[in-house]
Amino acid sequence: MMKTMELYVHIPFCARKCAYCDFLSFPQGVEVQRQYVDRLIEEIKTASAGFRDTTVTSVFVGGGTPSILESKEIVRIFEALRHNFHIEETAEISMEANPGTVTESKLRDYRTAGINRLSFGLQSADNEELVALGRIHTYEEFLESYRLARACGFENINVDLMSALPGQTVDSWLETLKKVAALKPEHISAYSLIIEEGTPFYEAYGEERGEGLLPDEDSEREMYHKTKTVLKELGYERYEISNYAKPGKECRHNIGYWTGVPYLGLGLGASSYINGCRFNNTSDLEEYLSGAAGQHCDEIALTEQDMQEEFFFVGLRMVRGVSLRQFEEQFGVAAEAVYPGLLERLVREGGAEISGDYFRLTEYGMDVSNYIMAEFLQA
Ligand code: SF4
Repeated sequence: MMKTMELYVHIPFCARKCAYCDFLSFPQGVEVQRQYVDRLIEEIKTASAGFRDTTVTSVFVGGGTPSILESKEIVRIFEALRHNFHIEETAEISMEANPGTVTESKLRDYRTAGINRLSFGLQSADNEELVALGRIHTYEEFLESYRLARACGFENINVDLMSALPGQTVDSWLETLKKVAALKPEHISAYSLIIEEGTPFYEAYGEERGEGLLPDEDSEREMYHKTKTVLKELGYERYEISNYAKPGKECRHNIGYWTGVPYLGLGLGASSYINGCRFNNTSDLEEYLSGAAGQHCDEIALTEQDMQEEFFFVGLRMVRGVSLRQFEEQFGVAAEAVYPGLLERLVREGGAEISGDYFRLTEYGMDVSNYIMAEFLQA
């Protein structure tokens, strides 16, 4: 029987660095971008040799800003992917795009390349908030990119949004949610801003420096809680802590991550999870372009215990929870035997519930999910 896996392709280039961003991304000229795609195609050829017996169920091209590449480069990448991997006919093929970086002709090329889902990094519908974030686009530019994407036939679109931003109020956040939901994208991701060390935001707001500049804790909680209520009223179901979709439009690629489907990462710094092993590609652009270094570093073979812990950590992010039957099939032992009394206690305390063979967090459990996940660490 064919095995299955997902593919992730990393494009590390951006027009300019956003003030809060700690992703592996940076500006580079067209020539370096072309060399990068050459190298990526080499990697696709070499890496695919180990996966002749594996079908790819989804592809996600992320970054960075993949849409900053000339679209002929995206077409080249997909030709190489299709030539070297068995990609299912019905595979979900997503690409991240930033407003203001797409044109009608680029979008048409993406469709020709087989991309069937676009993910727009909007973050906010308030132009002042966008300026504070250091984003390169306005809300109006997003509207134009979104309109073009629909006109070019994209029927599955995600919009990324972010709460707890500098200067943001509960009202301005709800306004963003409502404006975006009115456009009827199939999927909305709504994350809270995290101030990461090493970013300009950390200098400005880290270590309590954000007091009075960032929304306070109560406002932040209110934004989080109202997100679910408002989006539900507008036809979106929460299916993961920070992800909402119209029925049937949940992101299949991400569900794969949360349910332990193996994935192969291609490109600079991309990480993979194959045959119970985790490994990363080099994050050094020069090294990656030279192709001299072995592609894989930080290889870790996960133990049975690691995998059992992850089963709960990652799976409980999903609103539907984790299947206890799947746990038993996968590990040959019941979850209750590995965690004696824990599931029962969490249910008794109101943090979790059992429905059929699924164990899932309650609304309250989602609020304190960090504490609950920690309970699944084995001694
Ligand atoms: S567009 Fe995304 S990846 Fe690029 S700098 Fe901004 S947040 Fe980072």
